[in-house]
Formats: sequence, structure tokens, C-alpha cells
Amino acid sequence: MTSITQSLPWLNDSWTKLTRQLERTPHALLFTGQPGLGKNRLAIEFAHLLLCMNPDGDTPCGSCKSCQLFAATNHPDMKVVTPLEQGKSIGIDQIRELNRYLTLTPHTSARKVVLISPAEEMTTAAANSLLKQLEEPPLGSVLILISHHPHRLPATIRSRCARIDFRAPGPEEATQWLAEHGATTGVTAALAASGNAPLAAQALLEQGFVEERDKFLIDLLSLTRDGNPISCAERWQKSGSETALAWLQGFLLDVLKASLHAASNKGEPVDWSNPDALNAIQTIAAQVPAKQTAELLEVVNEGRRLLTTQIDERLLIEDILIRWNRVVA
Ligand SMILES: [Zn+2]
Repeated sequence: MTSITQSLPWLNDSWTKLTRQLERTPHALLFTGQPGLGKNRLAIEFAHLLLCMNPDGDTPCGSCKSCQLFAATNHPDMKVVTPLEQGKSIGIDQIRELNRYLTLTPHTSARKVVLISPAEEMTTAAANSLLKQLEEPPLGSVLILISHHPHRLPATIRSRCARIDFRAPGPEEATQWLAEHGATTGVTAALAASGNAPLAAQALLEQGFVEERDKFLIDLLSLTRDGNPISCAERWQKSGSETALAWLQGFLLDVLKASLHAASNKGEPVDWSNPDALNAIQTIAAQVPAKQTAELLEVVNEGRRLLTTQIDERLLIEDILIRWNRVVA
């Protein structure tokens, strides 16, 4: 069996920190870090380890009753709480059900393990209801809250959890990992678009990031002449809003780098996300002040965050493209 730190080596530090004193695991943990680092996968592996009745160091035995139940993915002492539909919140009813679940004694293992992901999607009422569990934890239970945006959690929740921060690997390690997993082209651009989070970059590449980005560039460049932001937004949404905005983010970052590089006049090499679109990048950089590019980049960053909510994606992209037209035209 391949361990989590073998398959996702950048998680090694977080894993070591968690498993060093397994018997002293806090009753509430908060896993934080950008999407695409493997927080959920590590949480599931950690739950497995906590539930195993006969672990060997940081490795579950694989053969006890608990490990068998885990392998069959219906362990009665583990519960995962996620939004019932993508883009929806985690509601109070789900947390009330969780609270009832936690009052029951464990079925097989010595404890119960609960994963709440993404924890920031809890409604205020749900978070308040969970708070009681965190204040008076049921004996032997471990609650793992997983969050891409921990600042959106109430401070009262954050302060009651032991926090484990997940960090992205450096560009070299991330590039190597993607290459080992069969990625050949577009790796730099995909990593730039996902803040070096390897799993997020891998997902982008699988969604056709490389093929789509040429179309995005053509769309963007023709938009200012005779293009229509509304029909362009429609195309981008169909290609995948996340892919489109991830690409635009990397592209604008390149434009900003080009502006700053031209201003500094040092001739140092630049780490481009889209080295194959350098002509377009430099033309735009010469035309648009760096401050405006930075503002637009901020709007796109926020737009990507909003994509995880119930926002109207088409309108969001339209708004961004209209702003782009205003800046570049
Ligand atoms: Zn076991």
C-alpha cells in the first residue's frame, strides 16, 4: 500500500506533525490551506489511522475489523459532513444530526472521527451548533475541520481547534510531481494558475486547460475590437468557468510581470506562466498601467473565490470581461 506521503510528498511535514503523538491527538483539528493540496485525502488517511485498532507507528495495520470496515468505505465510527449539493452551505440540520451521532458510543473503534469539509461553508446557525461540541467534546471523538478559507470561520470556532497549515511545494517539486503523473505540456501555466497546488494543476490539465487557453487568448484579444463580452462569457462558462478564470489569472500575472520588468529595466529572466503568448503579453503591458492590471488581477482572484459559492457564473465572467474591455480598450 502506498502511503499518503509517498503519493503526495509535499504533505510530509503536516503528516509528521499530526502523527508524532497519536495518542495525544487534540479533539478538534483545523486543516487549512489553498485548494488542491490534498487536505481531504490526508484527513481521510489520518481518520483511518485513528480508527485502526492496531496501528504500527503512523501506518494502519490493514487487517483489523476497523481497517476492514474502512476499506469497505462504510465505517460506522467515521462521518463526513459536506454540503449536500455542490455550491450549497452546510446547514444546521446536518450539524444537529452530527451532534446526535456524537452522543452514541463508538461501534468498533476506540473513538469516532468526523470530517467537516469545507468547514467555512457552514451557515452561522450550523457553526453555532457545532461550537457546543467543541466546547464540551464527547469523549474520544476527533473532529477535523477542513478549510480553504479559515478566515471565513467564526473566531470562536478557530480558537478551539489545533491548526495544521498545509503548504504548497516549490515550483520544481510540483513540476516534477506532475511530470511523474504524465503531464507533458502546459505544466508551468497550470501551476501558475493554481498557486503551485499540484492536485489543482492536475485537475486543470485534465479539464483541457492546454487546449482551452489558446481559445481564451484569441477571445480576449478580439474582445476589445469587435467582441461581445456577453457571448464571450457564455463560451468561457461552457469551457469551464474555473479553467477560464485560472487561465486569465495567470495571463494577467504575466502582463503585470511584463510591466514591472520593463520598468525595472534590469534584464533579469522572468518566470512566465504563458511563455508562448509573450507577444500579446508585452503588447498589453505596454498599453495598460501596472496599477490597473493589478486591480483587474484582484477582481479575477476574488472571482475565482466566488466560483465556490452559488454565484451566477455567467454574470461573474461577463463583469470581469467588461472591466477588461474598459481597461484595455
Ligand atoms: Zn487496523
